[in-house]
Amino acid sequence: MKKYPALIVNHELLKENMRQVVSWCNEVGIDVAGVIKVTNGMTSVAEDYIESGAKWVASSRIEHLIRVKEAGIDIPKLMIRIPMISELDTLIEVCEYSLQSELRTLKELNIKAREAGKLHKVILMADLGDLREGFIDVDELIAVAEYVDKEMDSVHLAGIGTNLGCYGSVIPTKDKMNQLVTYAKRIEQAIGRKLEIISGGATTSLLPLFDGEMPDGINMLRIGCASFTGPLDDIRTCYGRTEMDALHDDSITLEAEVIEAKIKPTHPIGELGVDAFGQRRKYIDRGNRKRAVMALGRADYGDIGDIIPQLEGAEVIGASGDHTILDIEDCKEHIVVGDIIRFKLKYSAILNLTGSENVKKYEI
Ligand SMILES: *Cc1c(COP(=O)(O)O)cnc(C)c1O
Repeated sequence: MKKYPALIVNHELLKENMRQVVSWCNEVGIDVAGVIKVTNGMTSVAEDYIESGAKWVASSRIEHLIRVKEAGIDIPKLMIRIPMISELDTLIEVCEYSLQSELRTLKELNIKAREAGKLHKVILMADLGDLREGFIDVDELIAVAEYVDKEMDSVHLAGIGTNLGCYGSVIPTKDKMNQLVTYAKRIEQAIGRKLEIISGGATTSLLPLFDGEMPDGINMLRIGCASFTGPLDDIRTCYGRTEMDALHDDSITLEAEVIEAKIKPTHPIGELGVDAFGQRRKYIDRGNRKRAVMALGRADYGDIGDIIPQLEGAEVIGASGDHTILDIEDCKEHIVVGDIIRFKLKYSAILNLTGSENVKKYEI
């Protein structure tokens, strides 16, 4: 018997999404690094990406990439979180490529790669204002690029990249992409050869691509979100890009079971303090309404705004760690205890659910 809550990963829909994303990128000379971190590093999803034309598999967690290597999947692996010095041994063993932003780490990497008899390829990150990782000072970026190229025997400077729209909410505009290409050209002049890779960002960098404004030279995007959530991604929901409607929004869905279905008041009865998370909440009195209590909660998916019930008229009205309450008064369907309700998922819900050992995963 199927166990709930159940996460359903539909590989056909995922691959259709990935093929579309890869095709958008390939049309303008860009290759895709398929980012699998949101699925907690599912190797089957890495294989979907490869079948769909991705040239690298990438993740922010080395554990995910270890799994990909151990599954015998033959594709260059890219570590997209700046590595810890304490994980460099593993990095060299597992990944062919990594993003880097610290000379100290690069020096350590060169020593360890030499010891291991390997040549590790790096993409130096330029911080174009989003203020997470990367060199904020362009002269420092160029000096370190030159240093890696001239002084390091076991680290190869493959290119440069940037990341936007993560901490600082900075939009990857045409100007930002041009700035990255300009930096690359300065480095190419300094080292006297072409860089192999200019990595223009993540899903949000589809914005300049959709606008036909991606400058020549950008030849890699590192894409996760778009392939998994499709039109539930921010670039559809926040920036209104209808191109995303070409993708499925249900390649990964959640099913949960109703454990109570009753008519109850909508306003709590008694003296009100705080809820399960110490929050003071406002409750609107809408009289008596029918509700369903589901056997899953914030411990599974995080925020109630990130799960979307696929039951007409239903609305998630609240949740604690292990319970989720749905208002089902306006549903045409008659919901009873034991019924299963399906949810579409936003990015952080997928991130949380795939990482939760209490959620069963079914792959179809
Ligand atoms: C997470 C991440 C990505 C992928 O981001 P999506 O929004 O999922 O496409 C790309 N690059 C870096 C450095 C990341 O951390």
